[in-house]
Order: sequence, then C-alpha cells, then structure tokens
Amino acid sequence: MEYEAVIGLETHVQLKTKSKMWCGCANTFGAEPNTNVCPVCLGMPGVLPVPNEEAIRLTVLTGLLLNCEIPRFAKFDRKSYFYPDVAKNYQITQYDQPSTRNGWVEFEWNGRTQKVRITRAHLEEDVGKNTHFERHSGVDFNRAGVPLLEIVSEPDLTSAEMAYTYLNTLTEILHQGGVSDCDMEKGMVRCDVNVSVRPKGATRLGAKIEIKNMNSFSGVRRALEHEIPRQIEALSRGEKLRQSTRRWDDVAGVTEEMRTKEDAHDYRYFPDPDLMPLVPGETWLAEVRARAIELPLARKQRLMRDYQLPAGDAEVFRGDPALSRYFEALAPQAKNPKAVANWIINNLLAKLAELHHAEKAEQAGIGLDIEAMSLSGLADLKFPPSALLELVQLVEAKTISNSAAQQVFAEMFATGKTPERIVREKGLAQVSDAAVIEEFCDQVIAASPKIVADYQSGKTAALNSLKGQVMKLSKGKANPVLAGEILERKLKSP
Ligand SMILES: [Zn+2]
Repeated sequence: MEYEAVIGLETHVQLKTKSKMWCGCANTFGAEPNTNVCPVCLGMPGVLPVPNEEAIRLTVLTGLLLNCEIPRFAKFDRKSYFYPDVAKNYQITQYDQPSTRNGWVEFEWNGRTQKVRITRAHLEEDVGKNTHFERHSGVDFNRAGVPLLEIVSEPDLTSAEMAYTYLNTLTEILHQGGVSDCDMEKGMVRCDVNVSVRPKGATRLGAKIEIKNMNSFSGVRRALEHEIPRQIEALSRGEKLRQSTRRWDDVAGVTEEMRTKEDAHDYRYFPDPDLMPLVPGETWLAEVRARAIELPLARKQRLMRDYQLPAGDAEVFRGDPALSRYFEALAPQAKNPKAVANWIINNLLAKLAELHHAEKAEQAGIGLDIEAMSLSGLADLKFPPSALLELVQLVEAKTISNSAAQQVFAEMFATGKTPERIVREKGLAQVSDAAVIEEFCDQVIAASPKIVADYQSGKTAALNSLKGQVMKLSKGKANPVLAGEILERKLKSP
C-alpha cells in the first residue's frame, strides 16, 4: 500500500522588542543568568503584568503579513502547568480568542506556488531555561517573559523538504518584516512538528505524533526524513500507532517516545483576570498596517514582471531587501534594467563580499569578537547609486568597453571618483574612430599571414583570433564591434 505524510508545524518566534512582555526587563540574549529579571518575570506574588504594546503591534503585523484575519476582540489566558522554568506555575498565552487567525503563507514549490494555511498566530510569553549539570540543575529566568509568537499551521505539508521550505519562507517574512531577528543560534526560533501518515487518498488522519522542541530547520528536515518512514514501516507491519510525543536525538538520528500526549483540558486554560482583553481600534490598526512590507515572494515576482529580470536575479533581490531597493532606485531610469541587475549582482555584491571577508579575517586576527555584518554594506559605499547607473550608461553608449568598465568599477569602489572622471584620467574611452581602428587592423593582418590564410580558406573562427589581436594592440580600447566589421571587410576584399 502507498502512504502519504501529513505534517503541521507550531513555530515559536521571539519578538523583536526592547523589553519583555509584562515588565521593563531587557529582552536581550547572552546576559549573565538571572540578571535581566524582576519580581514580575520571576513570578513573585502580588505583582501585576503590564502588556508590552509593541509586542501586540508585532503580533498583529505578523497576522497581516501572513494574510490572517485580525479579530476585533482577543484575550489572554493562563495555561497551568508545573515545571521549574515557569515560576508562576502558569504561562500567559492566547487560547480560544487569539489576536490573529485563518491566514496563509505562499512559497515556490516545484515550479508553482504552494499555499500553506495558517490556523493562528498568537502571542504568549517565553519561559526560563533549564540547564542540567552533573549533580544539580539551574534555571535562568532571563528568557522568562520574553514575548513569543506561536504560529500554528494547518496540516498542509506533505514532505520533509516542503516543511523545511515553509519554515525558511516563514522566517524570511518575519525577519524582513521586522518582527523578529529569527536567529536560530540564539534560540529565537523553535518548533514542534506534528506528523502522521495514512494510506494515500484516505481522508481520516492517522495517529498524530509530535516531535517537540526542534531548534534547527535542518533538524526538522532530518527528523521527518526519519520519522515518516518509521511510521510507514510500523503500519505496514500491522502495528497500531498511538498519539504521543517524541524527542529527536540529533546525534543518533532517531526519534524516541517521551510520553503519550496530554489533552488541552490538562492545562486548565482560563482567561487571565489580571489582563484586559485586546480590542484594536481603526486608527491603531491603520498604524500597524502601514508597517507591513511587500512580501519577499511578491517582490520577486514583481521584479520579474516590471523589469523582465530572470528568476535567478530576482531571487537574489528577494533575499536582500536593501539590495533590492538599491536596484529599484536605478532600474526605472535604465534603458536595460537587466544590465543594472548584472552590475549589482556580479560586481557590486562580489566586491562587498570580498571586503566583508577581508574585514572579518582582519578582525578575527586581532581577536575581536565580531558580530556578523550585513553582507550588503551598501551604506558604506564610497559612490552614490547614480554613479553605477552612469557606468552602465557609458557601456550602453559604447563610450567604454566592458573590460574598461571593470577597471572603472574597481576604481569607483576604491576611491568614489565618478565614472566620467575615471574614464578621462585613465584614458579608457573606447576608440570608435574607424581610421584609427583600420590602422590597427592593417598591422594585425600584416603580422599574421597564417591566420589570414586560415580565414580565407573558410575557417571563419580565425576572425576572433585576429580581433583579439586588434583589441590587444589597442590596449582594449578599440570598439570590438567596429574592429570585427573592419577586419571582415578587409579580409573579404584584400
Ligand atoms: Zn522582569
């Protein structure tokens, strides 16, 4: 029998706020344990939470980016459970009336657009972090009370690779949208994976198995690559699977059962009496709506449509909004936007990457702990975007050759001088004076009787060799098209 996998994901994302969800403690990563804490986030008796408005804005903004409905009434609930990382013995979350619901995410999949439905994205608080030592355990409450978004997808995913692509698309939207830095290494994104299998075409879902606390997307992909065949094998053997929670062992590359699943009523959800419901008004919503970016995929498709960019170029701009803005500042004024894209991707980006690596190496050499820099260090460029456009236009007008343009670009990058000035100072202007080129051609023809004979006996490729010599003789300045035409004419009627 053939089986199919049904996968849904619950993704937890830390929101990019200055302070925590209910108190003024800093929302930062890497501080000494239990230094960003106060009576509120330590769950002391007699304190009251005060909601962080920016976290609520970012939650609604996420809803807009994920095509969700924004209900005009939402509330906070308490989820009761006992664990050392939850000092209050409950976590504040949104249970039955979340701030956003019923949306979708789109991504490219096998050459078409795949849609994954989003059940809800709700706001909750992160909990502390347990660390287990040899003889004791410790809890760090710095993370407790950090605003956390839980994004629940419908079980619309059907393979490990598709789940991986969905997660990357989702975090790209949240990162570019300014909702979260989505830094996996700092634990800002974690997810729970729900996976079941069923006979292909069946409508009833199989027993849901949850793999908890995954902290890398490649881990999710590997866990699913292991778990889906495991379930199919068990069913093929006639075994019955039961709803349970499993743990992924990344070293051994297997999942193992932790416990059979608890139900929602075990958590005794009820409305938090300390917190008012959220009733967003029109003006407030309009302000949040104004912060919504154009989605990365939509931008890619628009660049392909508006500027006839090939998918590969548009894909580069999809991943880097700053670079994309740079391109769009120039493209409408260019005769051929594709040429501008080429210069940005093949030259500008390459130079920036080179510089980035050199700086990194230098700083590593003197022992500085450096933060990863944005690859597109466009703000530090010595020349304005208009200079790049000018360069493209000099090539298009055939004032300089392509190889001269490379020299001009290198000089622009190093000194910030204008292309026009560099061309003048270095004498790079292309020679389009037929009389001058004709002289070069005569010299080359006289010096290469063998190649000339080859050409005249029918080996047309020999022309390129002669053209190469003309270019060399002119130090790259001869107009190559003109040189080719003159050579051809002279060889045909000597
Ligand atoms: Zn606090």
